[in-house]
Amino acid sequence: MKKALVTGSSRGIGAAAARALAAAGWSVTINYLNSKDKAERLARELGSEAICCDVSDSAQVKAMFERTGGVDLLVNNAGIAWSGLLSDMTDAEWQRIVSVNLGGVFNCSRAAIPYMVRRKAGCIINVASVLGVYGGSCETAYSATKGGIIALTKGLAKELGPSGIRVNAVAPGAIDTDMLSCFTAEDKLHMTDDIYIGRLGTPEDIADAICFLAGDGARYVTGQVLGVDGAMVI
Ligand code: NAP
Repeated sequence: MKKALVTGSSRGIGAAAARALAAAGWSVTINYLNSKDKAERLARELGSEAICCDVSDSAQVKAMFERTGGVDLLVNNAGIAWSGLLSDMTDAEWQRIVSVNLGGVFNCSRAAIPYMVRRKAGCIINVASVLGVYGGSCETAYSATKGGIIALTKGLAKELGPSGIRVNAVAPGAIDTDMLSCFTAEDKLHMTDDIYIGRLGTPEDIADAICFLAGDGARYVTGQVLGVDGAMVI
């Protein structure tokens, strides 16, 4: 059975992606940082294991990949948000969001690549955001990390194409997870005014796009950013 690892899969989009990939026949390792109970419950449900690892810490990431023995599919999903004026952001807040969102993709990809290169096959899927394409007011740092992920995706796809490894990204719009918990139900209703499909996305909407990119149906797709946003106006 082919092996996958989904970072930040204790809840939200990552958990949905882990479930969908398991249903598609992948053996999926769960990664979490704080949500131990949720991660272990999901791992039991999928008959797999949950590994605690802060993706921003390269030593922890190295240990996580040593424990898996390498994976055929890496989904770089772990991420955090930060809202506010860029001019109010502290050094620590900037460093944290960059090291988790962008540094995490670097750390995990670097650790995953050698096994994939040896097998001359593999797939990396990065979870970016529409904000990485268009930028978002009061989410400038977050947008910058997601824009960085998009550039990393395109560069790495070229670097790894000759080794038979595909690298793509999904760019979700507004997805109803804990990440939107700072918004009221009324705020969320207003958000849908800017989405032509007329509703917020679900974690499963993104999970299905990830499954497509991971599957054989996408065998000639690499270096792409797949928008999954219900036609959102930004
Ligand atoms: P979420 O519900 O807040 O879940 C975030 C996940 O990331 C959790 O499983 C969390 O694990 C994990 N995580 C956070 N920091 C981590 C770290 N340092 N190391 C390892 N795991 C870490 O968020 P979500 O909405 O599912 O977001 C998933 C991804 O989609 C993120 O990259 C986000 O930027 C992106 N995205 C979300 C939206 C949206 O509207 N929701 C839109 C576009 C893009 P623990 O709980 O165990 O700490």
